[in-house]
Amino acid sequence: MTTTYHPLSEQEAIEIARSLDHFFPANAKLSSKEIGDGNLNLVFHITDSESGKSLIMKQALPYAKVVGESWPLSLDRSRIESEALILQNKLAPGLAPIVYHYDPELALTIMEDLSDHVIMRKGLIEGTVYPHAAEHLSTFLAQTLFFTSDFGMNQQQKKVQLGKFINPDLCKITEDLIFDDPYTVSPNNSYEAAIEDAAEALRTDAALHLEVAILRDKFLTKAEALLHGDLHTGSVFATPESTKVIDPEFAYYGPMGFDIGAIIANLFMNYAGQEHWIGDAGKRAEFRAYLVETVRSLWTQFDAKFRKLWDEHNVDRLASSTPAFKAFYMSRLLQDAVGFAGCKIVRRIVGLSHVADIDSIPDAAARETAQRMALRIGTALIKANRSVRSIDEAIDIALSAA
Ligand code: ADP
Ligand code: MG
Ligand code: MG
Ligand code: MG
Repeated sequence: MTTTYHPLSEQEAIEIARSLDHFFPANAKLSSKEIGDGNLNLVFHITDSESGKSLIMKQALPYAKVVGESWPLSLDRSRIESEALILQNKLAPGLAPIVYHYDPELALTIMEDLSDHVIMRKGLIEGTVYPHAAEHLSTFLAQTLFFTSDFGMNQQQKKVQLGKFINPDLCKITEDLIFDDPYTVSPNNSYEAAIEDAAEALRTDAALHLEVAILRDKFLTKAEALLHGDLHTGSVFATPESTKVIDPEFAYYGPMGFDIGAIIANLFMNYAGQEHWIGDAGKRAEFRAYLVETVRSLWTQFDAKFRKLWDEHNVDRLASSTPAFKAFYMSRLLQDAVGFAGCKIVRRIVGLSHVADIDSIPDAAARETAQRMALRIGTALIKANRSVRSIDEAIDIALSAA
């Protein structure tokens, strides 16, 4: 494929799929459908109904569409995404889509079709229980974070690897939209007039600003491990048996707690949204208890798996393999996860990009109740981040604020 970069049509996507060696039978009648939301990327679903074979082609666009204007974005994120997917699948086999081909000129990744899975956010909104999600996601996190860190890989090679995942454009989106805009008056913010008082409170709370500045500084400077960088429940494809993590275009070397906090934040936002989605009080309480247990289990399993990897595969020198240092490190990692979770909740309520768990609640009063609940949970987690001692304490803080 030597075409110069341009956004592909559905027909061109078919031609490219056909040129993949031995994937589809010769003369297959392929159909192509663009299924992305089109804000940053095109996603083509290519199928051959006769053989039942199919694949996904994701092409990066050179801009993001934001409120009527467009914001330039480097196509290099497509390379970063494909390299991250390949590495994640190597470190956490079966938990990310298989990459079949990457075309740098077209900023195009051809990958395994996971259409038999459901986006976890959608599943949770519908009240689906995923009994293995905490187990699978904690494995994904422990494996990808440990083996890209200074404890799990050669420290000189780590510096070289870090250089392959410099992702300034997408880091800037996070730095602005998560760690800045929600705490200031910004044209990027968006929220309903009904919660103006709560949004105003975010802008005037000096204690909150201190915590957000500390977390922002960690995001800017702490190159602990290769992060997924956008690990919300819209980046998780799930069935009750299987879990796959997609869309690592924000991957960069950052603080591990950012990825863990992303999952926790999205589980608590679904918790808030259930105010509306499950009408029956008993069933709602039951589903919320399941969400809370998923948060607890995600951290508890991550902690055990990461420690085990550290015990068995440490490449670092003596000082950092002492029990005292490991205990210090894991407790600070939990604190980071709690703080980042809070930041990720707050931005989804008052910032540029929201979540369907809450925003698609049709009834304005129920939506406002869920928004306010999420903001209380988010700010409580941010404020507690540097003192929290255990996942149970973090959950108590969130639930008392809810
Ligand atoms: P973006 O970065 O634009 O958010 P995503 O990688 O999240 O793109 O993909 C957008 C949507 O395309 C997903 O929500 C999903 O519906 C579909 N999609 C993406 N990757 C796959 C895949 N491997 N298999 C099936 N559908 C996919
Ligand atoms: Mg999208
Ligand atoms: Mg994306
Ligand atoms: Mg996505």
